[in-house]
Amino acid sequence: MSTTLYRKYRPQIFAEVVDQNHIKVTLQNEIESGKIAHAYLFSGPRGVGKTTIARILAKALNCRQRTNAEPCERCASCEEIKNGRSLDLIEIDAASNRGINEIRELREQARVTPAKENYKVFIIDEVHMLTTEAFNALLKILEEPPAHVVFILATTEIHKIPETIISRCQRFDFKKVALAETIRHLEEIVQKEKIKVDSRVIENIARHAEGYLRDAVSLLGQVLSLGDKQITLEESTLVLPRSDLATINAFVTQLFQNQTAAALGLINKYLEEGGDLEFFTKETVEFLRRLLLALITQNWQELLWDLADDDLKELQRHLRKVSIESLRRMIEILLEALANIRRSEIIQLPLELAVVKITQSDNVAEDQSGFEPPAPSALAAPVKTSAAQKIAPEAGESSKPLAELETVKQKWPEVIEALKDYNHSLSSFLKVGFPQSVNADKLCVSFKYTFHAERVKESKNKVMVETVLEKVYGQKLLLAVQVDESLNLSEPGNAAGQSGENMVEMVLDTLGGEVVN
Ligand SMILES: [Zn+2]
Repeated sequence: MSTTLYRKYRPQIFAEVVDQNHIKVTLQNEIESGKIAHAYLFSGPRGVGKTTIARILAKALNCRQRTNAEPCERCASCEEIKNGRSLDLIEIDAASNRGINEIRELREQARVTPAKENYKVFIIDEVHMLTTEAFNALLKILEEPPAHVVFILATTEIHKIPETIISRCQRFDFKKVALAETIRHLEEIVQKEKIKVDSRVIENIARHAEGYLRDAVSLLGQVLSLGDKQITLEESTLVLPRSDLATINAFVTQLFQNQTAAALGLINKYLEEGGDLEFFTKETVEFLRRLLLALITQNWQELLWDLADDDLKELQRHLRKVSIESLRRMIEILLEALANIRRSEIIQLPLELAVVKITQSDNVAEDQSGFEPPAPSALAAPVKTSAAQKIAPEAGESSKPLAELETVKQKWPEVIEALKDYNHSLSSFLKVGFPQSVNADKLCVSFKYTFHAERVKESKNKVMVETVLEKVYGQKLLLAVQVDESLNLSEPGNAAGQSGENMVEMVLDTLGGEVVN
């Protein structure tokens, strides 16, 4: 069923192709303007649409009733190509036809003029498998291509293609399909198949497929072959690859509690049982990313839907002792380990080093035992204290005219605006800050979330804000920040309402693209 499903829903026109927009647009422009290259090189990972687009291109080139660049799907040529009967489309799998004789034969075929006014299209899949002699023969054809011939070379290993070949092709680099696009495609299929599938199952499949669309569809096929008209999350576990979520959850909890030995033991046990450490590390990073977002947006159910209720509660309990900053640091350390795993002689070493680095620092959890219920506001408490100390009035320290709180509030939007010139994301942090009090030359700003307060407090950011404060208010003001969880951001007069979504963006912004993808 799985390959059938993939074939059944294989895109037949450009509009149906999932993702790869940059390639679709360029090819469609070339088709419409008639500026066709003699040779194309499609490189990129397996199962993301290289041969699919190659066939659509072949179809469009020979279709007599195109709409713009789209093949009509009705004319004789379209029908023939679709059913694999066309004499003008020749597909060669270089993995099994890699020798010089095949390429010579191909040259003979290329000399035969195609049916009237048609293009003869050769798709050579896995072209990197060709022998050196075969590449040389291919090069000869590409050097003097017959007018009516188009070559489409596809490869997953571009580094194995001789430079002389690459330079004679128009090259397109295919990329992995985005998670959201994969999900949308799977949902379309499910709808057409008239089977109800739990959206969490779809998301699970998409995540497992890691951007390889063909794998995703084939996995979906396996799930659908369970045969029911409705597929639940529970049923899907019969088919979906095992999830390491429980192990990852245990590992992360050990990290939170600074249990170095236990975490190292877990890694080695996982490896002994045949686990893939690179995959494990990647999944752990993804899990921590979801925790980070959940911590900030409080969308626990939505972000951690795959955790059992009890596990989630347990995890939340540990998280009360973990600051957003240390969570961010953990992710960074693990990403570094991930980058090193493939290069490492001892496969588990980078991850082991990461564990030591994380658990031997003192800012992950204060409490080694980790089993007492912490105070609900443990997360924010330390910042509150230090901020309170900072804003303690120090009478007689300054003789300059005092800025009034009301004036400060009035001109606050100017501060935010002026900061944009220095640092855009810092400016957006201050948007959710609320001037609380002015004491002598100290301005205290409240934030609802520790995350924002921590960022603004960083010394280089603090200096930047103070520079702008002096510009706007015409006097030197020292910045102090505090966390006030009771702040109502949507209240008029307070900072501009900040939706959870914006906050997610802000966090993603500070994490950079790496984690997101
Ligand atoms: Zn047609």
